[in-house]
Amino acid sequence: MSIDTISEGLRAIVGDAACKSGTDAARYYEDPRGSFTGKTCRVVLPETTGQVSRIVRFCNETGTPIIPHGGGTGVVAGQLSLESSDAIILSVERMNRVRGVSTDDFVMVAEAGCVLENIHAEAERHGMMFPLSMASKGSCTIGGNLATNAGGIQVLRHGNARDLCVGIEAVLPSGDVLEELSPLRKNNTGYDLRHLLIGSEGTLGVITAASLLLKPRDRATVTAFCAIASPADALMTLRALRSTIGDRLDGMELMSGLGVRLVREHFPTLKNPFRDEYPWYLLVETAGNPGLRDETETALAGCIEKGFVTDVVIAESQAQRDALWSLRENTPDANKKTGAFCSSDTSVPIGQIAAFVSRTHAAIAAVHDGLRTNSYGHIGDGNIHHNVFPPEGVGKTDFLDAHPGIAARVREAINEATLPLGGSISAEHGIGRLKPHDLQRHSSASKMAALRQIKRAMDPNNIMNPGALFSDLLP
Ligand SMILES: Cc1cc2nc3c(=O)[nH]c(=O)nc-3n(C[C@H](O)[C@H](O)[C@H](O)COP(=O)(O)OP(=O)(O)OC[C@H]3O[C@@H](n4cnc5c(N)ncnc54)[C@H](O)[C@@H]3O)c2cc1C
Repeated sequence: MSIDTISEGLRAIVGDAACKSGTDAARYYEDPRGSFTGKTCRVVLPETTGQVSRIVRFCNETGTPIIPHGGGTGVVAGQLSLESSDAIILSVERMNRVRGVSTDDFVMVAEAGCVLENIHAEAERHGMMFPLSMASKGSCTIGGNLATNAGGIQVLRHGNARDLCVGIEAVLPSGDVLEELSPLRKNNTGYDLRHLLIGSEGTLGVITAASLLLKPRDRATVTAFCAIASPADALMTLRALRSTIGDRLDGMELMSGLGVRLVREHFPTLKNPFRDEYPWYLLVETAGNPGLRDETETALAGCIEKGFVTDVVIAESQAQRDALWSLRENTPDANKKTGAFCSSDTSVPIGQIAAFVSRTHAAIAAVHDGLRTNSYGHIGDGNIHHNVFPPEGVGKTDFLDAHPGIAARVREAINEATLPLGGSISAEHGIGRLKPHDLQRHSSASKMAALRQIKRAMDPNNIMNPGALFSDLLP
């Protein structure tokens, strides 16, 4: 079918104003890190689940590939068409209503295009909280969060996106609507299709709404910034805080000395609260009832006494908390501005963190000994990201031109160092179009066969996000 006929069919469903193409749609082809550029595609912006259903049915009949798009903050190119301009990008951004909040069930029903930060605000308006958060919270959508089973900074206490979703509404590749938005906590009625769609990266359907699990709001939050000597000391601190503070330990982010320096270089208004520089830092947050500050202070003083922590500052106000978190939240931007050409996302069992950092650093140096690495991230979940830069004084483009294939070699070196520790090649960002070969290479034949059988059974015409997860043509 010709491109014109397909465009006409889409316009008939959503109207002219909800169809974009060419330069009008430029932002849908961009990648947040500037590592990929998507092909120019037609973009369609439905407003209701009924419209999504009609679009998907139409695409299934015409064999038109669909790439679901939320906030476009995904970092593995799952939301971009890298292969051809034949696909349509289906953006859920206009489906951004909160359909309701049940204070008895502690559940919010939100449409897929709701921006994560707006969900936080809506939960707060009802005296509750939605504890999924990450630096992209101002742009990413709950549909994208679920499609990637996003992690972020509170997984230690509240789990991944999957753990915060009790129900889902989605349009399946046939165009049929799956309505499973019940707030029930107990509902064992066959295969849980919600969990199949969560983490499926748009390859099994379009998520249109979700029932999200809210939590009682914390009445006190304590944020501390610790200077430490090594990732091994970070692990000792984590163990010590878990045994004293228990599950009120809300977040623990590791930051390298290089990373904090780069953030300050690119965002000069941000300050390192310590006068001296240290090799590593830990951003620690505890949350619960009033009185927690004293407990946190005592626990951290214990860590200093035992030699795990060199120095600590504790935020005295919301402004100071925000300033400490700004150091962490601006890290991805600082990496981009510095010229990161590889940004890893692997995980290991928590007890292996110190071995992970030293082995992966050695593996990166073995690829090229001038590379600089900023390691940071969610130490409480065993998920440290490495951002790898060219040698000091060398620009990214010049370096990549002079060393073809080096980004893939560094990524593979990190994978090879991660796996013997019992780790995963994709912790929280997903596979997208960046890692299908890694997935194929490092998964068992039985796992790959099961993944393919599920994909074929649900999407026999391979219209949902072809090219993501699997690199080959499926059917
Ligand atoms: C600065 C920055 C910080 C980040 N920090 C974190 C972090 O701490 N933890 C973390 O996990 N991630 C992080 N990310 C990655 C990203 O924000 C997450 O993957 C997020 O969940 C993507 O949401 P999105 O709405 O932007 O999805 P998009 O980028 O639009 O899409 C991502 C994938 O989901 C699919 N998809 C999107 N919407 C739907 C839908 N409604 N139905 C079906 N499929 C859909 C797309 O096809 C694509 O495969 C970060 C990214 C940036 C830029």
